[in-house]
Parts: sequence; C-alpha cells; structure tokens
Amino acid sequence: MRIKILIVLCFLTRVSFAQSSEHVILVTFDGLRWQDVFRGADTSLMKQQKTLKDKQVKEKYWRADPAERRKALLPFLWTTIASQGQVHGNRDVGSLVNVTNTMWFSYPGYQEILSGFADDARITSNDKVYNPNVTVLEFIHQQPPFKGKVAAFTSWDVFPFIINDKRSGIFVSGGEVPAREPLTENERLINRLMVATPNMIPEVRLDAFTFYYGLEYLKKNKPRVVYFSFDETDDFAHSGEYAAYLNSAHKTDQFLAELWDYLQSDPVYRNKTTLIITTDHGRGPGPDDWKSHGARVKGADEIWIALLGPTVAPTGESRSEQRYQNQVAATVAECVGIDYNAGGKAGRSLLKRN
Ligand SMILES: [Zn+2]
Repeated sequence: MRIKILIVLCFLTRVSFAQSSEHVILVTFDGLRWQDVFRGADTSLMKQQKTLKDKQVKEKYWRADPAERRKALLPFLWTTIASQGQVHGNRDVGSLVNVTNTMWFSYPGYQEILSGFADDARITSNDKVYNPNVTVLEFIHQQPPFKGKVAAFTSWDVFPFIINDKRSGIFVSGGEVPAREPLTENERLINRLMVATPNMIPEVRLDAFTFYYGLEYLKKNKPRVVYFSFDETDDFAHSGEYAAYLNSAHKTDQFLAELWDYLQSDPVYRNKTTLIITTDHGRGPGPDDWKSHGARVKGADEIWIALLGPTVAPTGESRSEQRYQNQVAATVAECVGIDYNAGGKAGRSLLKRN
C-alpha cells in the first residue's frame, strides 16, 4: 500500500513539475507608470525636469514613432521580452492590470504582490512592521528543496519587515547594508563604493548597489528564487525629477538585460529560469499628479506586468484583458512547480489560461 502511494506521489510530482522552470526571479520597479512603459517618454513632463537640460533628455528618449520611443526608454523590455515573453498592462489597447488593495502605495502593494492578496485591514502604512502574512517567498522557502535557496535584494530598508526575514528565515539584503563575509572580490569593492557614494535618502540603497550585490549572490550561491526590488523611480518621481525618473527606469532595464545575459550564460540557469517584472503601484496621469500616488490619486491603482522564460508563452503585448496584482504570487510559485493559493485568498497564476 505504501509503495503504491509513493508511486502515485512520484507520478503527480513529475506531472506538476513538467510545465515549470527550476528557477524564478521576480523584479519590481517602484511606482513606474504604465504610461511611460507603453508610450515612452512624455514630452510635457520632460519640460518639468530640473536635473538635466531639456535637450539631452529629448535626444535620449524622444522619438516621433511611439514604438521606437518606448524602445529607447526600455530596450530590453521592448526587444527581448516583447518578442519572447509577455507584456500586460497597455490600457491603450484594452489590457488592464490593477491592484486590488485600496491603498495604492508601497507596503500594501508589495504585500499584495508577495502574498497574493490585499490586506487592507492590517497593512495600512509603510511603517517597519513585521508582515503577519506568509509571502509566497516564505511558502516556497518552507518546501525542503528550496530551504536556503530563496533570497531578496531590495533597495528599500522596509523589505526585511515585508518579507519577515525573522520568521521566514529568508536572506534579505535591504537598505544600505553591506554584504557580509565571506566576501568575493566584487562584493568587497561594492561595499567600499556604497559607503563612498553620497545618498540623499538614507532608508533607500541606490539601485545599482542592490543589483550588483544580487548578481554576485546569484553567481556565488545559485539560489532558486530571487527577488530584486528597485526603488529610485519612485523617489525621483516624488521629487518631480522626470529626467532622473526616466534614467533610472532605463538603467534598471539595462540591469535586466545584464541579468538575463548572465542567466543564459550559466548552465545552472540557462533555459530553466523565468523572469517576472512588475510594479507596486501606478501614479497619476497629469502634469502634477504623475509625481504622486495613494488612494486619492486617480489611476494610481493601474499597473503592468511582464514575463519571460520557458514557462511563458511568447504572446507579446497583451490586449483586451483584465489582470490583477494579486496574481503575481501564484505565478512565481507555478514557475517552480508549486501550487500557491494562500488558502483560497490568492489570485490565480498568470500562466493559466483564462
Ligand atoms: Zn512613493
């Protein structure tokens, strides 16, 4: 009897793993608007920026053809991902992606992304409060093959609380915290550079440091599930620096290209890794409200999601659909062959057909 059960279990496991990749990497840009992702740089907002001369930004990101314009801003997204993966959230062609929480700011958005449901009763601020909810990262980490194989690299120092590193045991490198011994040569250098680089916002590490710490960790430890959370787009938007906001989005797109190049060059990851990219909230559409978000800002619940990898059908830019932020968590899990529904509360995986 026991043997029979074992055989059935082995069969079920094999079937459920057949459609999955072995690794998954989740990436978030903080508060990057769908308008900029799908339409490219907005000339009316370019005029507002203070840090660079109008002409320089125009040369870099302005193209008369909208398809070329968005490609100038996010070349990896609009070449590799758009041709080999999926991009959801272009409201101009009826692809709607919304958050389901009613807060429309960061912690509630990351809670929804990572746990698969909104928790408007308990997650109501960006305070450093340990998340009472088990995220999909923690759920995956609880499965024996994934123990010690889940890690997060986050610019914002609230993430150890959102992921609840204390309870979950997940390695979270968040905020301006240097990499710890034993260090590679590169990590030693990044530690020195981080300390030497002026940072206007002490609670947020500059995204380049977050990225290169994470990339180094991938090469060294070969984790199976990694979360990268970048932050600068939101910071520059709040201060009304549209050029810096665009530059940050562009640089993060280049991090994705570099990450994908590495993944496809390493036999551990090549053709076995899925990339999921999204944002925690939208922002307003207008000349003033693009700087902010929150429940009072119309449109700040509008987001976008992109996917790339062996589990993702290459359908390109989606049209006429309604998707939600609460579907990301189950998608992350499905990529590594795990069924996640948070007791029925989580949205269904985006990899499943409608
Ligand atoms: Zn913000």
